[in-house]
Amino acid sequence: MIKVYSSPYIADCDQLRMSLSSAGISSDMRNEFGHPIGLAALGGAAGFAAPEVWVDDADRAEAMRIVQSFIQAISNRSQPAEHPDPDWICPRCNETVDATLDACWNCDTPRPPS
Ligand SMILES: [Zn+2]
Repeated sequence: MIKVYSSPYIADCDQLRMSLSSAGISSDMRNEFGHPIGLAALGGAAGFAAPEVWVDDADRAEAMRIVQSFIQAISNRSQPAEHPDPDWICPRCNETVDATLDACWNCDTPRPPS
């Protein structure tokens, strides 16, 4: 077995495992509860251990490909949806321009740098 992914967010690990599973790759989750028994036994110095996703060595190449696109999807997800760009005001004609436009719909002035 080999570790292909680790995240402090167990939901991310779960989601990744679903992607792996739909590609026919079986995976294990380790440190699911954040406190591996081994560390705790070493004298209470157990810090938080991030959950990890492990796959069979034979599945590694394919799994890494899925992990890459998964990480990509996550980084896209953490962008604007909740914080959409505000509309901007055209410096030339003072029209309010939709945030998705890079130039004023009225006079074609490019969006000023923010
Ligand atoms: Zn304008």
